[in-house]
Amino acid sequence: MPALRTDAVVLHAFNYLETSRIFRIATREAGIQSVLARGARRPKSRFGSALDLFASGSAEIYIKAGRELHTLASFDVTRSRGELAADLDRFTAASAIAELAMRFASPESHAELYDALVTTLDALAVSPPGSAVDVALGGAWSLIAHLGFAPSVDRCAMCHTAVPPEDAASFSHPSGGVLCRRCTQLARTSRVLPAAARSALRAWIGGGFAPLSDAPERRAHQRLLREFLAEHLADGRPLRAYDVWERNSWSATGVASVAGVVP
Ligand SMILES: [Zn+2]
Repeated sequence: MPALRTDAVVLHAFNYLETSRIFRIATREAGIQSVLARGARRPKSRFGSALDLFASGSAEIYIKAGRELHTLASFDVTRSRGELAADLDRFTAASAIAELAMRFASPESHAELYDALVTTLDALAVSPPGSAVDVALGGAWSLIAHLGFAPSVDRCAMCHTAVPPEDAASFSHPSGGVLCRRCTQLARTSRVLPAAARSALRAWIGGGFAPLSDAPERRAHQRLLREFLAEHLADGRPLRAYDVWERNSWSATGVASVAGVVP
C-alpha cells in the first residue's frame, strides 16, 4: 500500500489508549482526514513533541479505502504555531476556525481551501493584541468563499438587482445574501447590514483584511457569521468552539455585562 505524502495541519488532537494519539488533520491532497499516530505519546516517539494542535508540516499517511481512520506514518513539523496556544484570544479564534474547517469537511483535494486555512492560522499566530477577532472573521469568510457558498453582498440574493454599496441593506440567511428594497418586503426574516458591514464582508470574501472599529461591531459580525453557519449546517449540532470564541471576545472587551440589552 503506497503512502500519501501531503502538506497537512492539525485541527484536533486527542489521546488514544496508553501511547497513541488520534489527529483530525486538514491536508492539501486529501481534504480533512482522521489519522492514528501509534506510539505518539511515548517519550522517544518518532513523531516528536512538536506534533500538536495547529502544527503543520509534511505528513505521510496510509489511506485505507472505505475506512474512517487512517494510519499516520510520519509527520515532519515545519511550523508548530505555539503562539496560538500561548494567547487565549488567538487560541479561541484558531479553535473556531479549525471547527469551521472540520464541520465543512470533505475528503476531496482542495489546495486553495487548505492554503486559506493555513494563511488564517499564520495570521492569527502573529495577530496584535485586540485584533484576533477581526483576523478570524476574515479567515472564516475567506474559507466560506473557497467552499463555494459566499453570500451575495452587491446584488440582491433573490432578484439579482444591484444594491448600491453605500446603502444599508437587509441580509437574508435563507436567501444567501443582501436583498433589494422590493425583495426585503417579500422576505420573511432579515437583518439589516450597514454599508460598513457590507464593505467588511466584501473585503473578507475576497481574501482581504478589514479592521473593525469597536466591540459592538465585532459582536454584530460574530452573530452574523454564527447565523450564516447555522443556516448552512443543517445538522443542528452546536458549534462549541465558536461559542467559546464568541463568549471569550465579549468578556475580553467588557461587552458581556451589557449583552442582554444589545439587540
Ligand atoms: Zn431583489
